[in-house]
Amino acid sequence: MSKISHFGPKIEFHIGIDDTDSVRGGCTTYIAAQIIRKLVKEFEVEFIDYPNLIRLNPNVPYKTRGNGAVAIRVLVNENLIEEIKRTVIQEVEKWFMIEDEKTNPGIAFLRGKIPTPLKCFAKKVIRDIVEIEEAERIAKMLNVEIIGYKERRGIIGALAAVGETLDGDYTYELLAYRKRENWGTPRRVDPQSVMLMDRETFPLTFNNVDYETGRILITPHGPDPVLFGIRGENPRVLIEALKYIKTGEPIACWVIFRTNQGTDDHLIVYRKISELRPYLPCKIKAIVDSKPEVIEGGHVIVRLRDETGAIDAAAYEPTGDFRKIIQKLEPGDEIIAYGGVRPLNGSKFTVNLEKIEIVKLARKFISRNPKCPKCGKRMKSLGRSGGYRCKKCGLKLVDAEKEVEEIKRDLKDGLYIPPPRAHRHLTKPYQRYGLEKKRKETIKLHEPWYYFSE
Ligand code: ATP
Repeated sequence: MSKISHFGPKIEFHIGIDDTDSVRGGCTTYIAAQIIRKLVKEFEVEFIDYPNLIRLNPNVPYKTRGNGAVAIRVLVNENLIEEIKRTVIQEVEKWFMIEDEKTNPGIAFLRGKIPTPLKCFAKKVIRDIVEIEEAERIAKMLNVEIIGYKERRGIIGALAAVGETLDGDYTYELLAYRKRENWGTPRRVDPQSVMLMDRETFPLTFNNVDYETGRILITPHGPDPVLFGIRGENPRVLIEALKYIKTGEPIACWVIFRTNQGTDDHLIVYRKISELRPYLPCKIKAIVDSKPEVIEGGHVIVRLRDETGAIDAAAYEPTGDFRKIIQKLEPGDEIIAYGGVRPLNGSKFTVNLEKIEIVKLARKFISRNPKCPKCGKRMKSLGRSGGYRCKKCGLKLVDAEKEVEEIKRDLKDGLYIPPPRAHRHLTKPYQRYGLEKKRKETIKLHEPWYYFSE
């Protein structure tokens, strides 16, 4: 098929999509892949970035799974834009799970450069809760065209995806998709090949395997079209990693996305305890206020406080050995707690811990009765009247004092993160500390960054 092209000046055109899938199937990144396929095959466009996979506030109650939205950014002749928009709408409507009650798709189209207020809006959607009306206002003010279906909630994510230009830290994910006839069947990906890939590409790929349980993390489990996703620092290592993966089913297509996954971008802003509200991501400087408690289900709860208030924080059962660290905390420990605010029944809420940093351990002491200077036995207190008596030799001391001894803490200052299986997509894993990057002005696309079998 010959491509639709036009002469004349080119402009930037940004496409945002969100909320197209449901637990019964679908995936917004898959729709993005289908749109890219059409753009590559049928239009003369220049991609100015990899497609962006933007993870939004992971605590929102409306999400299907990972609260992801997608942006596609091209340089194109203005005369082509209407045709491209029609193609995008067609593809979204072809694949979205519109009959699902919780699916409220949204599309955003922006011509030209990304305005700063849209960048700020995107950060708010990653770090806070936003109303649909606010998204509508912003879109109107900035001339972003939005299309919302049903309750229109997807326009929030679609706009945020367009606005998040990943100028700070970022990573990549290569997403490989299944042939349609295999959707809903068990995925056939050889776990040994994933482990080998993990070893060979460490530390430049991350969260491939959860070694505490031996679980493979690159494959999802639902009926969606994703076969696997490999997360990493750069496109080249992802192509390299792909060569290791052995599958028992064909790969229909794959696309490399640039993303905020593994960057902690939701946990940048410090908040006071009094500012916490349900569904907010949070990072708080706090003092441990109680001895941690293990509750039914194996969850560990600890009370935290700062100068504005107190709140319970929880390390839930899926965080595995991370709970053992929380259990070792003592009142007075200074920590930075990272997590998301979860509402409980009534007006109560807790912080669901995603990681902690121990800033300063409190010193802990025990006091004991003095030892008898004559026979070395520990003496017995004579009560209020004062003094101690040795039970063995009968020696009595009136002015002896208790011995105070410091207890060695079985814990060190530093960062503690749950195992990869309990991570949010946005959580920065240990191995990325020190690998953070800052975007250079333009992103150069390395070929190949997509593959379509037909
Ligand atoms: P998947 O990861 O499988 O694509 P999902 O977990 O991304 O699915 P969505 O189906 O996209 O879930 O649903 C999330 C919905 O919540 C979208 O409509 C999105 O616009 C909205 N949303 C995202 N972030 C916020 C936020 N901070 N405040 C309010 N609404 C939000």
